Amino acid sequence: MTLKGKTAVITGSNSGIGLGVAEELAKAGADVVLNSYTDSDEDRALAERISTDHGVRCRYIAADMADPDQCRGLIEQAGPVDILVNNAGIQHVAPVDEFPREKWDAIIAIMLSSAFHTTAAVLPGMRARGWGRIVNIASAHGLTASPYKSAYVAAKHGLVGLTKTVALETAEEPITVNAVCPGYVLTPLVEKQIPATMEKYGMDREQVIREVMLARQPSKQFATVDQIGGTAVFLCSAAADQITGTTISVDGGWTAL
Ligand code: NAD
Repeated sequence: MTLKGKTAVITGSNSGIGLGVAEELAKAGADVVLNSYTDSDEDRALAERISTDHGVRCRYIAADMADPDQCRGLIEQAGPVDILVNNAGIQHVAPVDEFPREKWDAIIAIMLSSAFHTTAAVLPGMRARGWGRIVNIASAHGLTASPYKSAYVAAKHGLVGLTKTVALETAEEPITVNAVCPGYVLTPLVEKQIPATMEKYGMDREQVIREVMLARQPSKQFATVDQIGGTAVFLCSAAADQITGTTISVDGGWTAL
């Protein structure tokens, strides 16, 4: 399939799932805009590498998804955007009554409000050009809960709700809006949780992975960033023209339990 001539913006894409999605969209021929809040030579080198590897235009635009003006500014700076992937995310784990207020605010801002701002900014252009795809990277935690992840679970459930609402508002137009719900994917975000979990349960790394992280993932395997990217590419294909307002789980059976 070819996405040649389309431009995709992927928020939070200098690492992990966002980078995997950017690679797969580029492989399918799309020009891509990478983003994070950092502004480093490594970020620009990454964009150059993707451009060379896949023969597409790839730019890096620094913008902090915690800041509404920067969310909207990213879309403005990117120029005409055909595909928007809302992916930027962080995690913090604590009981709700001890959950730091600033962490709650940051998680909701980066993972939920940012998608509202980028979506609002991108829709007029998609309508004017008569085609658009919005892919929100939610989570199995957009459909189920786990203790100690109140902000994350609330943000992801909120993102699924936003997905459905915007899908209804665009239902008669050639624009689709869907959420991909990954189970555990071994990315830096997940890697960072391993040492604390090892300490908490007195387990080694392999035990943490199998008995804690993948306890609810019946396949007992992590999903991969290219599988999430491939799902995003599918949602941008003609086969997915009538798929809107829904969630696609890539979770090894987690939500079937
Ligand atoms: P990651 O830490 O590798 O990537 C997160 C990305 O978001 C990075 O590029 C980071 O720079 C960016 N980011 C963070 N704060 C930002 C900000 N303020 N502004 C702009 N960019 C910002 O983590 P990941 O696992 O690849 O997570 C990506 C998305 O996938 C998140 O929304 C996460 O919730 C979701 N997800 C991850 C998993 C998993 O198991 N890894 C499972 C389900 C959903």
